[in-house]
Amino acid sequence: MLGVISKPHINFCGVFLIGMVMKFIDEAKVEVIAGNGGNGCVSFRREKYIEKGGPDGGDGGRGGSLIMRADENLNTLVDYRFVKKYLADDGKSGRGADCYGHKGEDVYLKVPIGTVVVDDETGLTLADLSINGDEVVVAKGGKGGLGNLHFKSSTNRSPRQATPGEKGDRRKLRLELKVLADVGLLGLPNAGKSTFISAVSAARPKIADYPFTTLHPNLGVVRVGEEKSFVIADIPGLIEGASEGVGLGFKFLRHLQRTKILLHLVDIFPQDDLVDVVASSVAITGELKKYDEELYNKQRYLVINKIDLVLDEERAEYVDDFINKFKQYDTNTNFDKIFIISGVTGEGCKELCYYLMNYIDEQKIANALPVV
Ligand code: GDP
Ligand code: MG
Repeated sequence: MLGVISKPHINFCGVFLIGMVMKFIDEAKVEVIAGNGGNGCVSFRREKYIEKGGPDGGDGGRGGSLIMRADENLNTLVDYRFVKKYLADDGKSGRGADCYGHKGEDVYLKVPIGTVVVDDETGLTLADLSINGDEVVVAKGGKGGLGNLHFKSSTNRSPRQATPGEKGDRRKLRLELKVLADVGLLGLPNAGKSTFISAVSAARPKIADYPFTTLHPNLGVVRVGEEKSFVIADIPGLIEGASEGVGLGFKFLRHLQRTKILLHLVDIFPQDDLVDVVASSVAITGELKKYDEELYNKQRYLVINKIDLVLDEERAEYVDDFINKFKQYDTNTNFDKIFIISGVTGEGCKELCYYLMNYIDEQKIANALPVV
C-alpha cells in the first residue's frame, strides 16, 4: 500500500529506521463538458380530415454525461496530459409526431485505480476511485426540454409552449494519483541516467514527500502506446558504502525495493579508464547485495549507454569487449538480454521501453494468478 510504513530496518550503524515509501504524485488537469439537453418541440398533429390536431411535439433528449471509472489496466495519468478537454454529445431536439430526441451518449473516462478526482475550482474532492470499476459522474448531461404535448390542458388545447434543454455541467478537474516507480535506474554519476529519463519520458510526476530535498530522484512517466505507461526513477547518490549508511544512497536503496526491475546503466565510452569504470559500476551492485539479498536478486539488466560515441565499424568488437569485462566483475546481472542505447540519439530506447512495459505487464498477470 502506498504511504504505509513498511518493515522496520536496522542499518549497520545500529540506527533504527522506518522504511519510507516515497510518494510520487502524478497529476493532470482536465476540463469536462457534458452535453446539453435537446429542446422540446412545438408541433401539432396533421391528419386527413382533422382540421386541427392536438399537440404532438416530443421532448428533447438528455445530454451525455462524463463518467470517470477506475480501470485496473492503467497505472498513470499520462494520457490526460495530452488531451485536456473531454466532451459528451448534446441530446437531440424533440420532433413532431410524438418523437422524443435521442439522448447524447455518455462518455467514460478511464483512470487508474487510486485516482482522486478534485474539483479544481472549489477544491472539493469529488471521488476517490479506489476499487476497479468505481465510477463517478463528473459532469452531468443537461435534461431534455419538454415538448408541447406536456402543456395541453382543458383551457389550452393548442399550446405553443415547450421548454429548452438544460445546459450540461462543465467542470475543471484535477486528477491526482500516487504512484510508485516500476523501474529503478542504477548507475555511476555521468552514466547518462537523467538524459535517458528525459529521452523516454512523457511526463514528470511531482515528488510529494521525499525527505531529501537536495538529492531527489529524477522521475519520469514513460508512455508506451495507447493507455500503457510505467514510472521510472533514477536513484542518485548511490555510492560505495551506501549500505553502511554512508551518504544518502542508503536511503535511496530502500526505495528501490519497491521497483519490479532494475536497469544498470553504464557509459560505454567513459573519460576514465574503462576497466575502472566497469569495476566501480559493478561495485554499485555489491552495495545492493550488502544491503538486501532480495534486492540484489531482483531482475537486473545491463544497459550500455552512449553507443553513439563508438564508430559503427568498431561497435561489434567494442561492445563484446565491454560485456566481457563486465562479466568478469559481475556474475549476478541477467546477461540474457543486454540493451545497447543512446540517450542522446534515442537509439535502442524504444525497444528497451517496450521490453520493460511487457515485463511489468507480465508480472502483473503473474501476481494476479490465484495461488493453487
Ligand atoms: P547522470 O549523472 O547519470 O544522470 O548522467 P547525465 O544524464 O547527467 O549525463 C552525463 C553526461 O553524459 C551529460 O553530459 C550528457 O549529455 C552525456 N550523455 C548522456 N547520455 C549520452 C549518450 O547517450 N550519448 C552521449 N554522447 N552523451 C550522453
Ligand atoms: Mg543525473
